[in-house]
Amino acid sequence: MSVPASQEPETKSPKLDQQIVNALTVDVEDYFHVGAFENDISRDDWDDLPCRVEQNTFRTLELFERNGVRGTFFILGWVCQRYPNLIKKIHEHGHEVASHSIGHHRVTDLSREEFIEDIRDSKKLLEDTIGAAVIGYRAPSFSIGEKNIWALECLKEAGYLYSSSIYPIKHDHYGMPSAPRFSFKPLEGSDFLEMPVTTFTLFNRKLPCGGGGYFRLLPYMLSKMAMNSVNKRDREACIFYFHPWEIDPDQPRQEQASFKSRFRHYTNLNVMEAKIERLLGDFAWGRMDDVFLQGEG
Ligand SMILES: [Zn+2]
Repeated sequence: MSVPASQEPETKSPKLDQQIVNALTVDVEDYFHVGAFENDISRDDWDDLPCRVEQNTFRTLELFERNGVRGTFFILGWVCQRYPNLIKKIHEHGHEVASHSIGHHRVTDLSREEFIEDIRDSKKLLEDTIGAAVIGYRAPSFSIGEKNIWALECLKEAGYLYSSSIYPIKHDHYGMPSAPRFSFKPLEGSDFLEMPVTTFTLFNRKLPCGGGGYFRLLPYMLSKMAMNSVNKRDREACIFYFHPWEIDPDQPRQEQASFKSRFRHYTNLNVMEAKIERLLGDFAWGRMDDVFLQGEG
């Protein structure tokens, strides 16, 4: 059962103004699914690699339980097919189950037909597994942008109510710098929402502060200051994300990958769980649907 956003702050640190509840999100995939390793690990080998996503996601559930927070889990169909009980557990713990595609293909690599099939299949797979509706979607590697903005219409048609697939920054793998910083209705005559991962502004530039590698690589205080500024100056909720493999320092290393990919993937894995724990205590958190769809049809 979900906790209404308005009740969430009671369990949180009194250090900050408690009005704004931020959205806590997890992209449930394994270390070998990540876009940065796509040239180093073949899809054909996925089934033969040691899987760590189940244990890491259970650790994530314990972390959330310890801190009394709920969030949204964007789940890869690949993981759901192999670990249906894990997905049921996520749902039973009161978290929102949402889609992260079936096989982590970037939307930019798919035709419209292939994309429609993927989002329908992943929605049905998750719904059949938990016995409840799935309304949220996040594109692999934030791969919805200017060139394939049609994808949002497809999501609405497939029955999703929101997407969190656009990162309004410039990045070598993704980004749509012209997109609004906060949730918006991209389709005329529809309440369908796109909720971009959070950025903050400094000297008129949009900088990322929504989690992932940036949160892991940079000092905690920088992320905290940036998110505070979004809550207090912009009066908006942040959307924070991470992956279960980011709290697993013992995962098998991909020595064949480039220095840049290894640096991004492996730096600070050993401190990430403690960092997230601080973050959970310093801000108020909730599920995407509770934070953004309260009162929506
Ligand atoms: Zn992903």
